[in-house]
This record gives sequence, structure tokens and C-alpha cells, in this order.
Amino acid sequence: MLTAILSDIHGNRQALEAVHSRGQELDVDTWICLGDIVGYGGAPNFCIETVRALTNQVVLGNHDAAAVGRLDPYYFNDYARRAVLWTAAQLTEEENAYLAGLPLTLDCDDALCVHAEPCQPEQWCYVQSRQEARSVLDNMDHRLCFIGHTHVPFICAHTGGKLQMTGPQENIAIEADGSYLVNVGSVGQPRDGDPRACFLLWDQLGNTLELIRTDYDIAAAQETILDAGLPSFLAQRLAIGQ
Ligand code: ZN
Repeated sequence: MLTAILSDIHGNRQALEAVHSRGQELDVDTWICLGDIVGYGGAPNFCIETVRALTNQVVLGNHDAAAVGRLDPYYFNDYARRAVLWTAAQLTEEENAYLAGLPLTLDCDDALCVHAEPCQPEQWCYVQSRQEARSVLDNMDHRLCFIGHTHVPFICAHTGGKLQMTGPQENIAIEADGSYLVNVGSVGQPRDGDPRACFLLWDQLGNTLELIRTDYDIAAAQETILDAGLPSFLAQRLAIGQ
């Protein structure tokens, strides 16, 4: 069985469409979404409706929480706050209730799915360094944990007493005695210098993990942001993946 794990779509319709069709080409059976469906991008409604149609395995992100009043946008930087306030005004009552009802964590077979740091998901902390990844793995009950939030993908494997952290474009075999923390990257606003949309492919039969990159129509996504009257910086950053 093939599962595609998406995170940080951030209202980017074109990136989500590209990832969806790539997943279909790859014969993906199941989809999981790790939150931040909205925020930054100009197509929040489309992204919510698409994710809802695709899967019920979805967790809450901090931008989703802020858009529906579960988190104070005061903590966001100026660009993020402006986008989240605009997003909040776009949501239908039903979309609002949908986001407001999303859980912070989800168990999917032997994996834990969460948007931010998994031990205290409601604190929205980042897992960036090798040390932070190690501390998560040391405190984890699950064999696998999938996260997002930083928009920077990595696979951190703890096998045979050794910790290995790898970047994108690597296909990793899941060892029976290993534990794995994976940041699946961002569909709609990558920040690792590669502007292509990113997601994770989890092959549960073949026991592999692979970070996939997909080109999408960045110019159209930028136009959607500018048409919405959102800060032009949010459009510009898509082109450089930062
Ligand atoms: Zn995000």
C-alpha cells in the first residue's frame, strides 16, 4: 500500500493540484495531511475542499488554528498574520467548523502524524537540528513519526544505535528495529531552496520512505497571491523556495 503524506499546502492551489496528479500517477492508495492547509496562499477554499475530498486523515496546523481562532495570530510575523486574517475572512462557516474540528495528532497504523514537535504538539515548536530530532526519537512510542511545520524536509533514522539524517531525494529502507522521524516538507511553500512542491511517499509493503519533488505552475500561484491583495513577498518567495 502506498501512502502520500502532504503538509503545509498553505492555500497553494497549483502546488496541490500538481502533487495530487503526481500521486495519481504513482498509484497512491491513501493520503494523509499534516496541517497548514491554509495561510500564505491565495486559494484557501480550494485547498480545504480538495483535502476534505481526498482523505479524513488530517491534523491541525498552526495557521489552520489561527484562521479559526484556536490560536492568537499575534504570535505570527507580519506577513503570516496578514495572510491568516485574510484567510479567516474567506472561509465559509462549514470550512471554519472543519478546520476547528481537526485533531492535533493522529495514529495511522504504526505511525504518529502531527504538524509540529510531536511531544507537545500544542506548543507548535520546530524540530530542526539533529539534536532536536534525536530527542523526539528518544521520547517516541511509535516506530514512525511524520511531521511538517518547518517546510524543510528530512528523514532522520535511528537504527542499530546510529542516528542518520538525510535530505531530500533519497529512498530510505525502513529497518524492522529502526525508528524514524520524517519531515515531509511543504507542498505549497518549500523553504529548502528548492521551489518544487514536496511530499513523502510511504510504501507500507515495500517498507520504504521517499521524499518526492514536483514542478508546478509557480507563476499562477504567485498571481493568485497578488490578486488576493496579499503581500508580494509571499509571491516572490515561492520562486526561490525560501
Ligand atoms: Zn506551515
